[in-house]
This record gives sequence, structure tokens and C-alpha cells, in this order.
Amino acid sequence: MKKLIPVFITSALLSLSCHAEQSVVKTQKISEHVYVLFGQGGNIAASVGDDGIYIVDDQFATLSEQIKQSLTELKPGSAQFVINTHHHGDHTGGNENFAKAGAHVIAHNNVHKRLTEKHGVGSDYLPRISFNDDLTLHFNNEHAKLKHYPHAHTDGDAVVFFESENIVHMGDIFFNTGGLPFVDVDSGGSVDGILNAVDDVLLSINDNTHIIPGHGPLSKRSELVVYRDLVARAKAIMLNAMKDNASLEHVLKADPLAQLNIEFAGWLPKERVTTLFYRSLK
Ligand SMILES: [Zn+2]
Repeated sequence: MKKLIPVFITSALLSLSCHAEQSVVKTQKISEHVYVLFGQGGNIAASVGDDGIYIVDDQFATLSEQIKQSLTELKPGSAQFVINTHHHGDHTGGNENFAKAGAHVIAHNNVHKRLTEKHGVGSDYLPRISFNDDLTLHFNNEHAKLKHYPHAHTDGDAVVFFESENIVHMGDIFFNTGGLPFVDVDSGGSVDGILNAVDDVLLSINDNTHIIPGHGPLSKRSELVVYRDLVARAKAIMLNAMKDNASLEHVLKADPLAQLNIEFAGWLPKERVTTLFYRSLK
């Protein structure tokens, strides 16, 4: 019996510490006021300062409590604004939970349109504030500039520039996963729009800028250049394979993207990437 007590205590402590470690949300400090939260779904940026907290994207609804807990550890109180970089569920799934906790959701007009189609008029998933070309959020002594890039990953993409902190959140225009982006052609996305957006961001940043991609680890300008060149190369390879009005079946059979020698994610296999590039470039 004597021996059982320490075992019990040890296992109780273990289960306590395991419980504390269960959160899938990991916080990384980037600057004095800006953090990135990694979890499941799109990366979250958090601005934490004198005025309070706001976040860029909010992953899935099931993670809202864990995200809120991570934010509380940075500063008590809940997020006052949520910016959506685009409408996909792995970036907007927490909108309703954060709105119910008092946040105002901000996104491009097309995000408002697409989330209305999905969740219905009056839903707390919908942005309360939407914009067309750009919008600036003056909060925490920062002037965060939201800029719309048409027909990139979707038709509602916003890139968020934290100019005084030299940080940019690119949403899914930038997949920092070593592969090609998901061009959501059915939501108004295009290969050329992604290239145009990346080129414009490259002009707006410098070698010290911290880049938060939609997915994958933090990045620097040089890695964004590599990504841009990969997308441009994939476009050139596809256009060559599509010569003489080649059908999609013909191009899929020729497997032109194989020559890139890159990994393709399980949810975004090479055939799907080839099909989306084909449809976008057709
Ligand atoms: Zn997306």
C-alpha cells in the first residue's frame, strides 16, 4: 500500500501535466506585439497591446477555447477583432465563437458573400465589417493594412501588413510547405492572381520582414522568392503541356508536374493540382 501512494501521486501529476499539454495551439512571439499561433488549420496572427487583442484568422470552431486560452496567457480579455484572410473553413471556423465573445469580424466583401451563402443571413460567422480594396485597422499603436488581391487563392483574399512591426500575414496565397498552392478555381482563384499577389508583396517587404504563411512555418523574403519561382515554373510547365489545345485528360496522362520533383499533400494530390492549374490557365 505504501508503494502505491507515490505511484498514484505520480500518475495524477502526469495526467495533470498531460492535460496542460493537450492544447494543439502553440504560440510563437515574433515582435513586441505580434505573435503567431500554430494549431490545426491556417496560421493565426495575434496583435496584443495597450488597446487589447485582435487576431488574423481563427482556425476551426473546435479549437476556439484553446485559442482563447492561448490569447489569455498573453493578455487577459478576449479578441476585439478577427480579420479573415479568406473564407475557407480552416481560417474562419471560429468566427461564430469569437463573435459571440464580443469580436467584430472583418473581411473582404467576397468573404461576406461566400460566408452568407454557407451560413445564412444574420449568422455570427459573417463579417460585421467588409471592404473592397483595402482597410486599415488602427489599434495597439499599429496601422495594420489589409489589402485585397483579386483572384489569387480565392476571390476574397486579404494580406495583412503590420507595417511598423515589419510583419505580413499572407493567408493561403503563400503555402510555406515546399509545394504548390491550392488554387481554388471554384472560388475565383487563379495561378496568375497568386503570382501577381506574391510579386506585389515582394515589392512591399524587405529581408527583415517576418512572413506568416497560411500554412507552414514562419518565413523570410528569400523563401517567398523560392515559392514564387516554383509557382512560375509550374505555370510554364503546364502551359507547355497544354499547347495545341491539349485536353485535361491528355495533360493528366503526360503528368508534366512530375518534373518538379516536389511533394504533394495527401489532401491536394498532384492530379488535383494539375487539374486546378489547367482550369486556371485554360
Ligand atoms: Zn484557404
